[in-house]
Amino acid sequence: MVETQRTGIGVRRDVEVVAAIMCFALLLFFATLTLYGAGFQMEAAISETGTADAAEALFVRNNIAAGRATRYLGASSQQAAVHPRTVTKAAHVNKLPSARLEAVQPSAANLSVLQARASRLYASAWCEAVVLGFAAICLYVTAVVSVVSYVRQRRSSGKISQTRASSVWTLVENLPVGVVFVQNERLYMNRIAEEITGYSSSEIASLSIWFRLLYRDSSAEVEDLYKNDRMLGFPKASRVTIHAKDGGLKQVEFAACTNNGGEIWILRDVTEDCAANEKFRVLFEHSSDAHLLFDETGLIDCNNAALRFIKVADKSALLGKHPGTFSPPLQSDGSPSREKAMEWDRLARETGHARFEWLRLASDGEVFPVEVSLTQVPLNGKLVLLDVWHDLRQQKKAEAKLVRSEMAMQEAQALAHIGSIEYNMTNAEAYWSAEAMRLFGIETANIPSSPDKIRNLINVESTGLFLSALKSVMHSGDDTTVQVLPSSTDSGTRYLNLLLRCEKNLVGEPIRVIITAIDVTDRHHYEESLRSALDAAAAANAQLEAEIQMVNNQSLELESQKHELETANQRLHDLASRDGLTGLFNHRTFQERLRAAMDEGAVSNAPVALILLDVDYFKRYNDQYGHPAGDEVLRRVATVLASVCTKKQIVARYGGEEFAVILPSTPLGEALAVAEQIRLAVQSSSATAVGVTVSLGVAVCGFNSSAAEQLIGEADTALYHSKHHGRNQSTCFRAEHSPVTGLPKAA
Ligand code: GH3
Ligand code: MG
Ligand code: MG
Repeated sequence: MVETQRTGIGVRRDVEVVAAIMCFALLLFFATLTLYGAGFQMEAAISETGTADAAEALFVRNNIAAGRATRYLGASSQQAAVHPRTVTKAAHVNKLPSARLEAVQPSAANLSVLQARASRLYASAWCEAVVLGFAAICLYVTAVVSVVSYVRQRRSSGKISQTRASSVWTLVENLPVGVVFVQNERLYMNRIAEEITGYSSSEIASLSIWFRLLYRDSSAEVEDLYKNDRMLGFPKASRVTIHAKDGGLKQVEFAACTNNGGEIWILRDVTEDCAANEKFRVLFEHSSDAHLLFDETGLIDCNNAALRFIKVADKSALLGKHPGTFSPPLQSDGSPSREKAMEWDRLARETGHARFEWLRLASDGEVFPVEVSLTQVPLNGKLVLLDVWHDLRQQKKAEAKLVRSEMAMQEAQALAHIGSIEYNMTNAEAYWSAEAMRLFGIETANIPSSPDKIRNLINVESTGLFLSALKSVMHSGDDTTVQVLPSSTDSGTRYLNLLLRCEKNLVGEPIRVIITAIDVTDRHHYEESLRSALDAAAAANAQLEAEIQMVNNQSLELESQKHELETANQRLHDLASRDGLTGLFNHRTFQERLRAAMDEGAVSNAPVALILLDVDYFKRYNDQYGHPAGDEVLRRVATVLASVCTKKQIVARYGGEEFAVILPSTPLGEALAVAEQIRLAVQSSSATAVGVTVSLGVAVCGFNSSAAEQLIGEADTALYHSKHHGRNQSTCFRAEHSPVTGLPKAA
């Protein structure tokens, strides 16, 4: 393109050179013509001198005929024909001397006149020759000077043009827009244009390649459009989408103009602008806030949220209306909506911005609160107002809920006598709930500016505890509780439990101190009362314990006495139920136990056996060894019985030298075996080595106690049978052939 520029400049310079050469040639021509005129005048002067000499000769040679002069003149004419300059001279001489020759007839009178005239003509010719010669010299000099000057100027202008072209291209290269030069269907791009397309100038060397970059369905159609635009001289800028070398699409603003048969395109990458516009459009259309643009003529445009707020389906129904139209007649403060809306519009136009809360009216009659932001913005060369509505319905509900919660908390705190204190260490803000101020007996104006200054509100006795607790909680971060007494004594001594909590940031610096004050005065009094009651109860308890101890001692004594009594009773019982000689149950107890065993056997349907035992020939033993020895035999027999019989079997002294064994749940065979075991044990006893034996009778029965006497009788029958069949044997009673001996006598 630089070459193209140079070519244009070169064409202009060629015209200048041709014009300069023509001027120079014309100057030379005039200079030559003038020089020729000077020579002609010099010739004329010389002719005049000859004419005068000829006239004088004619006159001197006595009127020689004019023919001589004429010949002379003819010779001169011939001479002039030989020499080109003589042609003019001849013409001059032919005109001049002929007149002169007519006037100058060979007379003396005219000779002097002729000479004088010749002299004048001579002088005049020389003067003209000199002037013309000088003029010719001047023209030559002028021509030479012009040539030299032109050449110098040409050199100088060439340098300037080169410098100018270089400067222009440097400027073009550094323009913040893309520039494309198009000439003869070829393109050259500056650096920005190359950055926009991603291609170098050599890669897009022609228009046809450029068209392939354009993002359209039909490049031929684009080419036609381009050609049409070119024919119309690119009346306005347009926007095209191009395929950049990196594969992405770029939005490019395109403007073009023609220049010396070429074109200059200006390209500007507006991809980001388009993206920003698209983002803005999306934000505008999808914002949850209503956006309305209006001027003095009414609504210009609005987004979908505005339609939702006003509850209309079509935007056209709103256009031209003032946003104040969508308001109830009166606002929440009772002021007329129309006048107040005008005031806000005026304020926004004067200050550029206004922000306020407003009641809106939807098409279905719903009135709802919004936060309005009015901003004056430029739009298409004029200032309009951007009206943004932010829905406050949820916020108002939340605020109302918060107010209710706050009131509930205040009431709860007042009822529970619990106050909240909060200090924000980052902005030095303090919050004291109403109950907290009441507990400490202060007003809002007296709220301490920092937590440590709470010490001024508490008794000096508890100041140290409080400061220590505050220091601890701010240092360790662990919750701490301290009991203090507020200084205010309006309502008597009060006790406050302060629960201290501290929040810290990531670097461990305290950012918030929260103190919960709980009035524990009543509890303190209750605790004191309870403590007194506990002391009294403890004293009473000690007394009661002493009394209980005394009673216990008495009880122990009574228990001991009771035990002694029981022991005595047992002894008495034993004395009543036992035999004094052998220690076995006596006869009465035997009778009781036998009936009890038979009752149990009747219940459990179990047999009860009875063994009766009689010492053989005991009278004789007494007689032989004496009664004490007989007593000893009786004791030894009792010992044998106790050792042979089990605990369930009841051994008793029936009377005299007779003994009885009750065997519960024992059939006849087993009972007979026990009887034999007893008999053998007595016989083998060392104590009875003198030959003491026993005879036994065994009987089994028992379904009712009324049969006890029968059972004793049957056992006694069996015993009688043993006595009368040789003694030292056991006999069991059988009903079918009673009495019979159950077992043979031992050897
Ligand atoms: P049998 O073999 O027929 O039984 O002859 P027995 O002598 O043993 O029988 P008897 O009935 O004739 O004699 C019983 C004697 O037992 C009479 C009596 O003196 C004696 N006796 C009874 N009670 C006691 C007592 O408690 N102590 C002493 N040493 N003897 C007693
Ligand atoms: Mg007897
Ligand atoms: Mg006997």
